[in-house]
Amino acid sequence: MGSIKLNQIGSYPQELLEINVEELYTLFPEPTLLHLHGKKPEPVFVSVLLHGNESTGFYVIQELLKKYQNSDLPRSISILLANTQAARHRKRSLDGQHDYNRVWPGTIEPKVQEAIVMQEVADEMARRNVFASIDIHNNTGLNPHYACINKLENRFLQLAALFGPTIVYFLSPKGVQSMAFSKFCPAVTLECGKPGNPDGTSHALEYINAVLHIQAISNKPVLSQDIKLFHTVARILVPKDVTFSYTDQSAAILFQRDLYKMNFTEIPADTCFGIVHSNNNARLLALNDSDEELGEKLFYIDKQQIKLRKPMMPAMLTLDEAIIRQDCLCYLMERLPYPETTYTN
Ligand SMILES: [Zn+2]
Repeated sequence: MGSIKLNQIGSYPQELLEINVEELYTLFPEPTLLHLHGKKPEPVFVSVLLHGNESTGFYVIQELLKKYQNSDLPRSISILLANTQAARHRKRSLDGQHDYNRVWPGTIEPKVQEAIVMQEVADEMARRNVFASIDIHNNTGLNPHYACINKLENRFLQLAALFGPTIVYFLSPKGVQSMAFSKFCPAVTLECGKPGNPDGTSHALEYINAVLHIQAISNKPVLSQDIKLFHTVARILVPKDVTFSYTDQSAAILFQRDLYKMNFTEIPADTCFGIVHSNNNARLLALNDSDEELGEKLFYIDKQQIKLRKPMMPAMLTLDEAIIRQDCLCYLMERLPYPETTYTN
């Protein structure tokens, strides 16, 4: 992998409005930060393609630029077109690259070149007095659209609730974009369902347009009946030396085929996640926000079945075995009582 450098521009070529995401690298081979001036000066920051195969954000930006092609933006906007090289190959990230959503300030690997580029983006946006930050993603399972936040403060909840009622609060993994920006402005990560789904594009486009029109983000509490707030308890992984499959009977863990339908459904204790086909170390790992391993606390094995100890709600469960290996099997969440305490700055 050659070295990467941040490209900053103040206008864009017309081709950007029509190009396919796979060809975007021909215009912008490097991560590119595009600053466009609007009526209100403090910019909204939008990052897209931190994961190259999650194309919705890019198509949202195309639509947004077309919408304002001949009129003033209500507010300035800065757009990061991130991993165009991975997008070329429809991959989350390329071999040899660090995951672009694990290298933001706060990352466990601050010295790698991707982290140096993202630090530069964060510094530039802090300098520009960024108004709000929106990072757009897709996922592969059957998930509702939802927003994630990394601070339980009213302005963050307000910004998230504008996208929809389902809100997820998390503090791990480290080095994600929204967590870095939460140090200096309200920040959300949007999960817009599967790539290529027009609902995800139109929803995120409406959302960004709404945020561009807001005068100030309210610091009033969100009405509790308007939101469903969850927090992640653990990220569930398969140990590196353990084979798994949804179909191959010879794998050490054979997952339940219909597991993926359980996203954002509270599932009861003793629910079976899969069958263990070996007497070696086949098990699931569960890492909490402090990277403590809670596998034994969340799962038990009974007659070769991996079962859940207590009721939980999964998110991001996927049938895609490459994603399970590269990222995780799922997140397990619990409902967070709201308002249990008053979240204020
Ligand atoms: Zn993503």
